[in-house]
Amino acid sequence: VWSKCLTIIKDIVEWQHFKTWFEPIKPVELKGDVLLIQVPSQFFFEYLEENYVPLLANTLKRELGKNAKLEYRIIVDSGNKGKSGSMDIPAGPVKHYTNNEVNFPLVINNPVKNPFVIPGLKKMQIDPQLNPIYNFDTFLESDCNRVARRAGKTVAEKPGANSFNPLVIYGGVGLGKTHVAQAIGNEVKKMHPNKVVLYVSSEKFINQFQDHSRNNAINDFIHFYQLIDVLIIDDVQFFARAEKSQDAFFAIFNHLHQSGKQLVLTSDKAPKDLDGLQERLLSRFRWGLSADLMVPDYEARIEILKQKMYNDGLEMPQDVINYVAYNINTNVRELEGALISLLAQSSLNKREIDLELAKKVLRNFVKTSTKELTIDAIQKLVCEYFNVPYDRLLEKTRKREIVQARQISMYLAKTFTKNSLKNIGEHFGGRDHTTVIHSCQTVKDLMDTDSIFRENVVELTQKVQLAAI
Ligand code: ADP
Ligand code: MG
Repeated sequence: VWSKCLTIIKDIVEWQHFKTWFEPIKPVELKGDVLLIQVPSQFFFEYLEENYVPLLANTLKRELGKNAKLEYRIIVDSGNKGKSGSMDIPAGPVKHYTNNEVNFPLVINNPVKNPFVIPGLKKMQIDPQLNPIYNFDTFLESDCNRVARRAGKTVAEKPGANSFNPLVIYGGVGLGKTHVAQAIGNEVKKMHPNKVVLYVSSEKFINQFQDHSRNNAINDFIHFYQLIDVLIIDDVQFFARAEKSQDAFFAIFNHLHQSGKQLVLTSDKAPKDLDGLQERLLSRFRWGLSADLMVPDYEARIEILKQKMYNDGLEMPQDVINYVAYNINTNVRELEGALISLLAQSSLNKREIDLELAKKVLRNFVKTSTKELTIDAIQKLVCEYFNVPYDRLLEKTRKREIVQARQISMYLAKTFTKNSLKNIGEHFGGRDHTTVIHSCQTVKDLMDTDSIFRENVVELTQKVQLAAI
């Protein structure tokens, strides 16, 4: 039985790891469906337990059926040369691992108990969680992002086999971190279809970790992540204050890095300025390359506007483009927002886009409007639009219409009022600022992928702007 297990394991783990951690294991006895194995040290036992329990348990189950159990015995060499005596130390309470199911929400195609699929076929099937619109073709290169973009391309060509591991991309909001990170994932999938790629935000990682922790399944969690070839974690700054998740991330990071797998991380600050992250993590971030994204300069902003218009089949006079590019100098997301507002106003007033309209719209957009919009006013508009009662908007519900109405309200509040994220969250039944950030991002993402949703937001944007004039 054991040698059959080893054959399977050999296919799954790296050769080095196999030699170090599996060859020294001695099968001792098989009683029914309980296999007793002998390991050479307490450390060895702990390492196995930390890293390979799901693998062992699953392999064994395949050989012995689903009631298979594994027991360890630790035999420590006395350490004196020449003496062959050994000491038998029971591994505390003998550990039983049964039904160690690795059942991740992320595992699609096979909601399988066991990601090791078929022996010999060592790749698991997961949805990489990538949005195809974020690719390198749509990410315009300029001085402000050249290093990050090129490093990203190199990483995608040779994941794991380059000196940018990890690749850390950092920069302020709306400057393209998510775009580059996703572009890397998409490019890897294109060039190396067999690589297991996963894009995940740190918030999602933390939530998953906490779920698994509650279910005593941390090992499964870590193990799942250790099977990934290219792991992309967005917005690692949210790891601050999530100590346990950082520990898990640390274990995963080490394992992947040692196995020559690629890590791509993004952050809103340079690694040296990331407060609340463990020093041991930050020191590992320095092993690879940190590249920043800066605000695109005037020329680059013009190029970006032109590209967006081209993609949407739109045209606009050059002086308007220049005017927008000149005045919106914060980040690319706002640039896109300004463009949307302009289109919204133009279609609302059935009027060609010209400089006069641009001036009027941008006056609003850059928040210099005389009439202060309030969050309440925006909530009211959105509720009317979607026909959702106001009190339901603040409710805790997963109902899609309500959730979307709420997310759009937050997005509009963020875009058209001067309220802080915290303040906005408070107006939505005491939700916190990360929820607001997440909502804004979701709205953006949906606008990219769902044309009906996009139309709703554009129409609402018109209404909100009218209210402000
Ligand atoms: P971040 O994650 O840094 O907050 P995003 O990646 O979400 O920013 O980018 C915000 C928006 O700006 C996205 O729609 C993205 O496609 C766009 N964008 C950013 N940089 C560029 C660029 N260089 N070329 C084209 N679009 C860009
Ligand atoms: Mg982002």
